[in-house]
Amino acid sequence: MRPTDYNSHNDGEETRRQLMYIDKLTGFVTSLKDEIGHTPKACVTTFGCQMNARDSEKLLGILITAGFEETEDESEADIILYNTCSVRDNANQRVYGRLGVLKGYKKNNPHLRIALCGCMMQEKTCVDKIKTSYPFVDLIFGTHNIFKFPELLCRMYSSETRMLTDVWEETDTIVEELPVKRKYPYKSGVNIMFGCNNFCTYCIVPYVRGRERSRDPEEILDEIRKLSSTGVIEVMLLGQNVNSYGLNLDTPLSFAGLLRRVEEIDGIKRIRFMTSHPKDLSDELIDVCAHSDKICRHLHLPVQTGSDKLLKAMNRSYTRDHYLRLVDKIRTAIPNISLTTDLIMGFPGETRKDVEDTIDLIKKVKFDNAYTFEYSKRTGTPAASYEDQLSPEIMQEHFDAVLSVVQETARAACATHTGEIHEALIETVSDHDPGMVTGRLSNNLLVHLKGDEAMIGHIYPVKLDICKGFYFLGSMMTNG
Ligand code: SF4
Repeated sequence: MRPTDYNSHNDGEETRRQLMYIDKLTGFVTSLKDEIGHTPKACVTTFGCQMNARDSEKLLGILITAGFEETEDESEADIILYNTCSVRDNANQRVYGRLGVLKGYKKNNPHLRIALCGCMMQEKTCVDKIKTSYPFVDLIFGTHNIFKFPELLCRMYSSETRMLTDVWEETDTIVEELPVKRKYPYKSGVNIMFGCNNFCTYCIVPYVRGRERSRDPEEILDEIRKLSSTGVIEVMLLGQNVNSYGLNLDTPLSFAGLLRRVEEIDGIKRIRFMTSHPKDLSDELIDVCAHSDKICRHLHLPVQTGSDKLLKAMNRSYTRDHYLRLVDKIRTAIPNISLTTDLIMGFPGETRKDVEDTIDLIKKVKFDNAYTFEYSKRTGTPAASYEDQLSPEIMQEHFDAVLSVVQETARAACATHTGEIHEALIETVSDHDPGMVTGRLSNNLLVHLKGDEAMIGHIYPVKLDICKGFYFLGSMMTNG
């Protein structure tokens, strides 16, 4: 049954309930601490996209508020949570591979609890496999009820039953105001909506993330004001297709309208968003971006393929001409915009001609970069039952042919910025050289320059001295 939009509702009562469970959970953590003689440690691992990364910050926030200490070392953890992805089969295989290792840790630490959530747990075949092959897993829940995590942990710690499973088909509930442990003090992802109604024929997301539900704009703006008050200067607005934001709100507000309001928030210096679908990227959105001082000069616009035949088979709802005209419109309005995309190679029925069409489109658009993937058959998606699935060899051939053009185009696009001066938000100290820091430009390019930890979270003018293919070596601009 194809869904209609949900009238999602923000459940304040549920927020209060879960906060109550966090208090109760604190009791379990304290008695565990007494038993093991140290503060119990929690290790949360995220697989997949920025939506998952944001969910993990919420899950970790709940664990830490209940008294766990964060660790990145699974071998010393007392609870291990995997927030899984299922966009490609290799993501599932990685989780199965890791579970084997976790079994060993459980032998050494009988107090260890293992929990799994995220998109992979929305797939019944995966949950059944875990029930039979990995019975030592203690808790399984999905993408629709992550807000129930405090309650589920209390049930897990108070029951003798093996493997508590609670996966929901779908939900229209959005629960706000639960604790969050953010990874970066100066930037944050902000969910603006959940789910997707586009049903691209290769994609599992609509089946694991449910129907589109937009958050109340006041909740979003409140969250961003709070983030700004804690020192966040850059926000990434997140949705599977942000262009569809607001369609199901009682008082509809377009994504462009939401951006205008985010722009007004003091303290926020940079606004990013992901992901925009080419089928409904509006002139209004282009106009708001063009006239904004804060919206970054980077747009990720997944095209997937340059072949009209395949765009149809993928149910992408646009043609290559539509995409090319949209790119022209965007570039005319925002000349210094950096454009990146996603490409799927090896889709069922893909011919050499389709590969040539994709290469031709890449050369026409001159993408600043592209994330290129091999098609991965996902059980339950229409494309999985399409005839003429390609052999791995042919798929690899098509993938390699396109990847070399993508890299050539991206190198050329990057080099055009040599000598320019850009504002860089310093994000980290370089892993290789403690005397170097890494900054991200508004157009999403990275620059490495001399610096130290004190610069992290601040924006500096930087000269792009040497192009190193897909990034730069640069130097700080001084006033002199
Ligand atoms: S727009 Fe298509 S590819 Fe993107 S999440 Fe939705 S169904 Fe998947």
